[in-house]
Formats: sequence, C-alpha cells, structure tokens
Amino acid sequence: MHKPWDQFPTVQDPLLRNKSAPHRDVLSAQQTTAVPLSIVGAGLAGCWLARILAEKGVRVCLYEKNKQVALEASGNPAGIVKPFVTRSPSSGMAFHCLAHEFLLDRLAKFDLESACGFRRCGVLQLVHSKYPHSQYYSCLTEEASTRFAGISTNSSSLLFENGGWLNPNALCNALVQHPLITLQIGFELTGIEGSSDEKNHRLLFADKDSVCSYHTVFTVGSAIQFLPGIENIPLTPARGQLSYFEFKDSSNPLNCVVNGKHYAIPTEEGVYVGATFDREHTHTDVTEQDHLSNLNGLKHLLPDLKIREPAVKGYAALRATTPDRLPLLGPVPDFTLAREIYGDIRHGRSLDNYAPLPCQNGLYMLGGLGSRGIVTAPLCAHLLSNYLLGTIEEIPDSDGLNLGKATRENFGLNDWAPLLNPARFLIRQLKRSQP
Ligand SMILES: Cc1cc2nc3c(=O)[nH]c(=O)nc-3n(C[C@H](O)[C@H](O)[C@H](O)COP(=O)(O)OP(=O)(O)OC[C@H]3O[C@@H](n4cnc5c(N)ncnc54)[C@H](O)[C@@H]3O)c2cc1C
Repeated sequence: MHKPWDQFPTVQDPLLRNKSAPHRDVLSAQQTTAVPLSIVGAGLAGCWLARILAEKGVRVCLYEKNKQVALEASGNPAGIVKPFVTRSPSSGMAFHCLAHEFLLDRLAKFDLESACGFRRCGVLQLVHSKYPHSQYYSCLTEEASTRFAGISTNSSSLLFENGGWLNPNALCNALVQHPLITLQIGFELTGIEGSSDEKNHRLLFADKDSVCSYHTVFTVGSAIQFLPGIENIPLTPARGQLSYFEFKDSSNPLNCVVNGKHYAIPTEEGVYVGATFDREHTHTDVTEQDHLSNLNGLKHLLPDLKIREPAVKGYAALRATTPDRLPLLGPVPDFTLAREIYGDIRHGRSLDNYAPLPCQNGLYMLGGLGSRGIVTAPLCAHLLSNYLLGTIEEIPDSDGLNLGKATRENFGLNDWAPLLNPARFLIRQLKRSQP
C-alpha cells in the first residue's frame, strides 16, 4: 500500500486520446480552444516523452526555447549507456537496471539505433573491491578486463556487456520525427496562468502568443523557476564538460567504454573523455582548465592509452541534479496544501488520517535527470505516459528483456513514487522538522 503522499490523483481525460484534437490552428492570438498536451523543453526528457506518447497515438505539442532541439544537457556528442549499480541490491539500482533494459528495448523498437550511433561495445566499470554476482554484469579480474578493453586497465571491473555509448543530440533529433509531434522551436516559456475553470491553464511565451493547454509536462532541466512552489524542490545545476582527444596512432587501441572516476568513450580516431562535475560555475563555455582536468582523469584511468594533446574539441552544459541523484517524476505537487495536510506527520499518526498528495491541476514534471539521463529518460517518459493515459503497459518477456521479477511488475507511476515523487524532499523535511 502506498503512503498517502505517494498516491497521485488519477488523470481522466479522453482528449488525450483524440488524434484530431486541434494543434497548429490553436496557436493564433485569438485562440479559443486549448492544446490537449504540451511538453516544454526538448532535451532527452521532452523528446522521449513526446515520442513515447506519439507512438501510443497521442498528439503532442513540444515547445523549445532554442532554435533546435537538444542544445543544452542533451547536446552532448557522446554519452554512456550503462545502468548505475550499487554493491548491495537497492530500489535505486532496480530502477536504473530496468531503465537500462527499457532504453535498449525502445532504441530497437523505434528503430533509432543507427540514427543515434548506438555502439554496443560493452562498458567496463573499474572497481577496487569485490562486487557480488549479478544478472546485470559480470565480474572480471584485472587480466580479463585488460583483455576485453585491449589495453591495461590496472584494475578489476564489472562488465556490462550490452552497454555502450550513443550520441544524445542525434537521438533527440531522431525522436521528434513523428507525425503526431508538433515541434515549436523558439518558444521560451516565461510563466503559467491558471484559468477560472481550472480545467486548463495558459502558457506564456516570450515574444510569442500565449497558448491554452489542458495538460503540460515540464522537461526543462534545472530551469523550473516558473513553477509555483519550486523552493521545495532542491534542484541544483552542475556544470559538466566533455573533451575529445585524437589517438596517437591511427588505429583504435580501445575496444570498449571504460568508466571509473572519469570515463573514456572510443571512436575510430579518438576518445571522448568525461566528464567534469562542478556545482560552482553555471556558464557553459568550453574551458582549457576543464580539458586539463579530463586529460588528467584519462591518464589516471588508462595510463597506457596514447593520445595527442591538447584536446581538439569539447562540449559543456548544465546537468539538473537532485540530492539523492534520482529523477523528479509526476504531477507537480501543490506544496502549500501539502504542507498543511502533512505538517504533523512527524508525530506518527495513522496514515489513514491523511489525504492523497494534492497536486496542481494539469501540471507535471520530468526532470532532475542529473548525470544519468541518457539511461533514465525513456523509462521516466514511459511511466509518465502510462499515468497520463491511465494505462499500465507492461513490457512482455517475449521482447527479450532480461528484467528481474521484482522490477518487471512495476510499470505504474505510483509504484515508483517513493523513489521519484517530486514531493519527496518536502515530505522528508516535514518528517524531520521540529515542532
Ligand atoms: C557533460 C555531460 C556528460 C553526460 N554524460 C552522461 C552519460 O554518459 N550518461 C548519461 O546517462 N547521462 C549523461 N549526462 C546526463 C544527460 O545528458 C542529462 O541527464 C540529460 O541530457 C538531461 O536531459 P533533459 O531533457 O532533462 O535536460 P536538457 O537536455 O537540458 O533539456 C531541457 C530543455 O528545456 C529547454 N528549456 C529550458 N527552459 C525552457 C523554457 N523556459 N522554455 C522552453 N524551453 C526551455 C532547454 O533549452 C533544453 O532544450 C551527461 C551530461 C553532461 C552535461
């Protein structure tokens, strides 16, 4: 049984299933009808959500402030595809392993593998102490790791055989190619206004007409300043830079992705090295200092890898991070009301005394993807789409997925609410707070 604050209100809106619901024609100044479903922000989160809904027959309107999709955190030319694992089993690990399998499944099902340059070359995660055996990885000795990588790893490792890397920018561009997705670029959201009947709301854009929307999902990275009550969501931008170095010899000496404190992603002619992690700076210029930090990281990770210095190119952006490194997924809570309802939960009263989580009508969020969004975005999008449409669509075993029993059963958003609920930080604060 879910705790009251982990119970989201049901969405019941037949409009979401109506393919002929108005879209382009409602974007005029004098519009009288509303867009059934808007998504604001076209990075991995927004593009996956748009595509997954479109594949289910739902028309979506995707608004992006930049002139193209994926020019921010998702603009990377390369990122690792591998689940995050912990030494002892945890619900966080279950979520990431499910997300990893789900990503591989959807890349294949939507025929996106070549469009995003997916290379299933395997990922070695270097480890310095023993991990238990698991269905998600194999434990390799230092010798076996070196053989797999083609170069000395100086360490034992966990091998994720069906991991690899892809180009997130190319993936986003491929995801939005669907007739049910209307992409509106150059639309920068500046605010939201409620409507009198509370069935819809108005999205305000800089230098553009406003748009009336019934359901709006915010997939804007850390730029959530226009959401009422955002001070209850501890989302912090963390700058990251990737650097690219050419190999000294023309042939690629590295067979797979290698991941430690830094990571190395091999291409034919060189290696992407990532990534810096910096909460102090919020600019996105590529800097020599960060190239140097990546270079030092690479020398520590793979001392025998011969590359040319300096870096020939790089990419920098801001990740949207949460304190527990898990995404924020679900309806946007009504934080004021939630404080009133759950203000005394630290006293340990029976849970029957509390109402389900109060939420802001028609507003949802998919964010806080941090350093792991390539892997987690599609599963988050799938869970949210199930929630919006009132369906729970399991992934059948016949898809060839290798999901553990405990994870396969959970495809409802409420099932993951204890982990992903946007209200979880407020609830934790209320549980701790002194009278
Ligand atoms: C250097 C670096 C390396 C990384 N490496 C990996 C990796 O190896 N593996 C991995 O899994 N993940 C990795 N990540 C993380 C991953 O890239 C992110 O988690 C993911 O891209 C986040 O996607 P997003 O859609 O939430 O955010 P974004 O890509 O930032 O998208 C948000 C979008 O919203 C738009 N937007 C913002 N405000 C508004 C507004 N007001 N109106 C309209 N539009 C708006 C933005 O322009 C942007 O397009 C890395 C990230 C970085 C920076």
